[in-house]
Amino acid sequence: MTSHQIRQAFLDFFRSKEHLIVPSAPLVAKNDPTLMFNNSGMAQFKDFFLGNGTPPSRRIADTQKCLRVSGKHNDLEDVGFDTYHHTMFEMLGNWSFGDYFKKEAIAWAWELLTGVYQLPKDRLYVSVFEGNEADGVPFDQEAWDLWKGIVGEERIILGNKKDNFWEMGDTGPCGPCSEIHIDLRSPAEVAEVSGKSLVNNDHPQVVEIWNLVFMQFERKADGSLIPLPSTHVDTGMGFERLCMAIQQKTSNYDTDVFQNTIQVLETLSGKKYGQNDEPFADIAMRVISDHIRAVSFAITDGQLPSNVKAGYVIRRILRRAVRYGYSYLGFQEPFFHKLVSVLAEQFKDVFTELKDQEEFVTRVILEEEKSFLRTLESGLKRLDSIMSGLKEKGINTIPGNEVFELSDTFGFPVDLTALIAREKSFQIDETGYQDALAEQKKRSRQDAAKEATDWIELRESDGVEFLGYDFEETHSHIVKYRKVKTKTGEEYHIVLDRTPFYAEMGGQVGDTGTLILGSKEEGERTIAIVDTKKENDLFVHVSRDKNLDEALSGAGIVTAKIDTGRRNKIKSNHTATHLMLSSMREVLGTHVSQKGSFLNDEVLRFDFAHFSKVTDEELRKIEDRVNEKIRENIALDERRNVPIQQALDAGATATFGEKYGDFVRLIIFDPKFSFELCGGTHVPSTGEIGVFKFISEGSVSAGVRRVEAVTGEKALELMRQQEETLNTIKDLLKGPSDLVKAVESLIEERSALQKKIAALENEKIQALKLALVTNMESHSTFNLIVQKVDVPSADSLKQLSYELRDQVENLIAVFGAEIGGKPQLSVFIAENIVQETGLNAGKIVKDLAKDIRGGGGGQPFFATAGGSDASGLDAALDKAKGLF
Ligand code: ATP
Ligand code: MG
Repeated sequence: MTSHQIRQAFLDFFRSKEHLIVPSAPLVAKNDPTLMFNNSGMAQFKDFFLGNGTPPSRRIADTQKCLRVSGKHNDLEDVGFDTYHHTMFEMLGNWSFGDYFKKEAIAWAWELLTGVYQLPKDRLYVSVFEGNEADGVPFDQEAWDLWKGIVGEERIILGNKKDNFWEMGDTGPCGPCSEIHIDLRSPAEVAEVSGKSLVNNDHPQVVEIWNLVFMQFERKADGSLIPLPSTHVDTGMGFERLCMAIQQKTSNYDTDVFQNTIQVLETLSGKKYGQNDEPFADIAMRVISDHIRAVSFAITDGQLPSNVKAGYVIRRILRRAVRYGYSYLGFQEPFFHKLVSVLAEQFKDVFTELKDQEEFVTRVILEEEKSFLRTLESGLKRLDSIMSGLKEKGINTIPGNEVFELSDTFGFPVDLTALIAREKSFQIDETGYQDALAEQKKRSRQDAAKEATDWIELRESDGVEFLGYDFEETHSHIVKYRKVKTKTGEEYHIVLDRTPFYAEMGGQVGDTGTLILGSKEEGERTIAIVDTKKENDLFVHVSRDKNLDEALSGAGIVTAKIDTGRRNKIKSNHTATHLMLSSMREVLGTHVSQKGSFLNDEVLRFDFAHFSKVTDEELRKIEDRVNEKIRENIALDERRNVPIQQALDAGATATFGEKYGDFVRLIIFDPKFSFELCGGTHVPSTGEIGVFKFISEGSVSAGVRRVEAVTGEKALELMRQQEETLNTIKDLLKGPSDLVKAVESLIEERSALQKKIAALENEKIQALKLALVTNMESHSTFNLIVQKVDVPSADSLKQLSYELRDQVENLIAVFGAEIGGKPQLSVFIAENIVQETGLNAGKIVKDLAKDIRGGGGGQPFFATAGGSDASGLDAALDKAKGLF
């Protein structure tokens, strides 16, 4: 069976058992604060087990893209060194949400493995939870009995809490599990040592392939367990390991899942996988063919490599692969990106998203590779010199601060440094490194230091009501407030029960405005709100006014009022951003997708996926199109609470990495033109924008461009400024009828004059030369010229000396000059005199320079010096005369 058939057979099997087949969730976890990446099949169904949502069916099956490189599951260090752990892998799973339980789950697993896939029964072992007294959880008799009826007691192993009891977190659903292991060794090996004894012992050919979790308890915060009202099944089977078993291989990398990539690597490197004397070449091929999957799919799902958080994890995986290629396969040039097309092709029917973004992903990886290869070279040199320095002192531990510096300056992930060190029999000071890292974190924390008092709660509230789409002013109550010390001063954070203030989100800045506290009768106090920010679901109004405690705690009804003029400008910029994105997709192509957005009342900034510079002509076309749509004065069509699927089916544009709930808001300006999921504020009709004008275009990172633009008044202001500049130039040029021509002729004139000056200077030097030769002192063994001269530049002294040398034999020439107020000296001594007498122009000029308070140097036959005291020139020249 090919891997495609194996995957398909799994899905078909569970479809036949009335399971709904769903697509994989993105690799990058979007709505879960505890996870960066999806690391198991159940992650996308968490809410169903927690009772926060209802599944679309009580039986579901799928294949889920998983990544185990951070947090609770981190297999990165093993990848490449063993043959069955990957960074990214597919987890095949079937789920029962309060439907079937152990009996069906176990029977079906066995039916699929031995019936459909024809795996040998005498090579399979299963584990059952042995129970745990401290937890009060009994031995899983039910699973034992079920398995006993299928495989017999001799193939069952008892497992402890660590291997056979699954928990979602510190609290929540949990339960015993049953794992299925397979023994893939040769008959000879099996005859010698029983497979049963090797289960759960890290043997590369006796591995776990499937884990069946039976959720039947809930762990409470006090640690106790109570039975769940309804029980669930959650299973996960490693697809690549399954392929290894069915295709009768002893390594995941020998299956068709990895062989395509490995073959391309063989061609590129000229090395054969599995036939290398140095083990690291094989490890490198495994690392690279594994990591390309993780990196490609992460970028596809919206996670670009970067310096922070999930982006940094991806960057590190990419660098690990490139480093292995560089060190063990001889890749000095970028190679990693070349593997993307292999994967895109291989997965085009399974995870189509990679094929759709193939070019983008390739570009991003190429650029990352290029920049890493540059730092890699200098970093490796640095590491080498550190290690040889230590070796001389007989030390074999690389200090933590060096490890830290390598990671900080050269982008060397610590595991890389540790690895390189290990290969050279060094180790790293892990604790020292952690200290250095902690120190840096502390510094940056101090930089961003904030000190907040506890919230002072004034009234109950079940969440803020945002009224800003419809109102600019509301009557509200203060729910709570606190005082926060920041680096720039003290501020108050105020939470209202209802508010017209938009909190910074989706690229749109927060509103500013005022809160009016108190009443007309008892005296009002107006305070300024300088920003509104979201903190989870709170809308926080920020005021920098002083001493507000009393006013805030005593406030009854407050009037919350936004700065309408500012908001209107923000609205214009937000709507203009939408019109611009649609126009870009028309002009540049539909590959243009949002990668970042920021807009306030002055400017809109937009990052998007596109591979080349947007030409002036393209910019003009986009600008024209946006302005056309502005003049059409299209009315806003705003729809709230639309079910997300309905919106997407209707073709609404959504942004990668944005969180969307089940119900979304749609912003439409002509359904055929601009149709987006958006929570921001917009103009009632496009005419209000007035005019749209780009002000810049450039690159942010590989494959991502940035434009900035202005609208309305700001655009007019910009045009006025440019007009003024032109007018000023015109005035300076005395109002010529053709300004461009006037400037052109000015430039021409200037260069003609420069030529003339150069010619004149040359003439002057020729005349000077003549005078100097005439006044030269002739001695028997040398001809001496010591003279203060009037020349335009220090270079002229050199020219003068060299030209005189061609004319006068045995020349010694010392010149002094004042150039731009600064003294200069030069000393020339004919080459033959230098050789015969050992005189040295460099030494002489240094000595003479003392009189002009300066220094200099050069060669034995010609040297120069500059100084700061021009009044010393004569003394220096007098001294020179006495020297020869
Ligand atoms: P192992 O002990 O082998 O690391 P695990 O206990 O971490 O496995 P589970 O969390 O139960 O595994 O995941 C379910 C299945 O997913 C496993 O039975 C295995 O087939 C597969 N699997 C787990 N981790 C990886 C990985 N890093 N690469 C490939 N497959 C994996
Ligand atoms: Mg594991």
